Amino acid sequence: MSRNVDTPLEESGAAEEVACHDCAQVQTLPPLGLRSVARCIRCDAVLDRREPPDSTPLALALAGLFCGLMANAFPIIEVSLAGRVRSNLLVSGPRALISDQMPVLALLVAFFSIVFPLLWLGAVSYVLLRVRAGTRARELGPLFRLAERLRPWAMTEVYVIGGFVAFTRLEELGRVSIGTGGWAVAATAFLTFLVDQVLDRRHVWDSIRRPAPVRGPGPTLGCPQCDLVTTLPEGSRCPRCRCQMWRRKRDSLNRTVALVIAGAALYLPANILPIMAVGRLGRPTPDTILTGIGELVRRGYWPLAIIVLFASVLVPVLKLVSLTWFVVAVRQRWRWALRFRTRLYRLVDGIGRWSNIDVFMISLLVALVQFGVLATVEPKAGAVAFAAVVVITMFAAEAFDPRLMWDAVEGRDE
Ligand SMILES: [Zn+2]
Ligand SMILES: [Zn+2]
Repeated sequence: MSRNVDTPLEESGAAEEVACHDCAQVQTLPPLGLRSVARCIRCDAVLDRREPPDSTPLALALAGLFCGLMANAFPIIEVSLAGRVRSNLLVSGPRALISDQMPVLALLVAFFSIVFPLLWLGAVSYVLLRVRAGTRARELGPLFRLAERLRPWAMTEVYVIGGFVAFTRLEELGRVSIGTGGWAVAATAFLTFLVDQVLDRRHVWDSIRRPAPVRGPGPTLGCPQCDLVTTLPEGSRCPRCRCQMWRRKRDSLNRTVALVIAGAALYLPANILPIMAVGRLGRPTPDTILTGIGELVRRGYWPLAIIVLFASVLVPVLKLVSLTWFVVAVRQRWRWALRFRTRLYRLVDGIGRWSNIDVFMISLLVALVQFGVLATVEPKAGAVAFAAVVVITMFAAEAFDPRLMWDAVEGRDE
């Protein structure tokens, strides 16, 4: 192992030892120059990214928080049909889903589009403010860990695409315009994306608590959340972020297999059952994921149709097939395409959230299209199955530990 370590820790004060979160390789990070990226020597995972230590991320996060609050206070979309005007707030979607007897769907939409985005921006702003003030309070570590865990589940960007799709469907019905809240949602999504890009996570972690050099020949244990390397025994809590540390994710293969089976079982109903019924002049027409895509094609929205086809139909299949491949590869100790598999895992883990486009579209339509006999939209059981596939496959990707694939070829068991 030591031949992979570039610089002995003793020689360079700023060097830091980290364990790769995707392949477990322990390596020494050399002091990085500004705007540079350190990648894992074995699997290419981004281990560190250095940005200038200025206030840009904080300013962006505070602006994002402001826009996020605006997005919740003002109407998103306005539709007028036969002299009647309807508009919706972010919270209208979950509310309409509850009155349509879909409480689980309502909760998912509320958490993904309202609670988690605000919580993420709020937590990041707070941590950056405290770090800037030079405080090293104990709660900052757990709070920043919570923010990092929440990030994939804060789905404002996905909501914006869902809003586009809903907008195209509404154009058929009447006059549509985007309200102040709609622009605020778009701004929140953009600012969230920017914060993600410029946030120097290792700088934040090191400001919360500077890691002490690890010495001695004993086995090391890396924190899965903040990458701190310690010599603590398995199951102890990370001294920096309080995350419980295990050498590998616990019971990873069994949990992954169970979730993949559940996701696969729900995939067909999710794509065959109607996700909503669009009623016009009292006559309801069922809409599935696929007919929704056909509708986009028919009306000439090709790019949007391709995005939805990828996000809703292909991404879940890609996730289920890849995770199955990974599990079999660990069990059979396959060496083939190890690096490719690790990269594919990162892709699959990262894009899963985009499958929620249709879920957000439904939440917007059911809140807006309530024009009695003229036009109504009602959610259907397929929507619940579909949302379940998205959430279950996201959990499945989270449950899988890519380091097991590397362990398997090193001749170690889980
Ligand atoms: Zn790696
Ligand atoms: Zn930690």
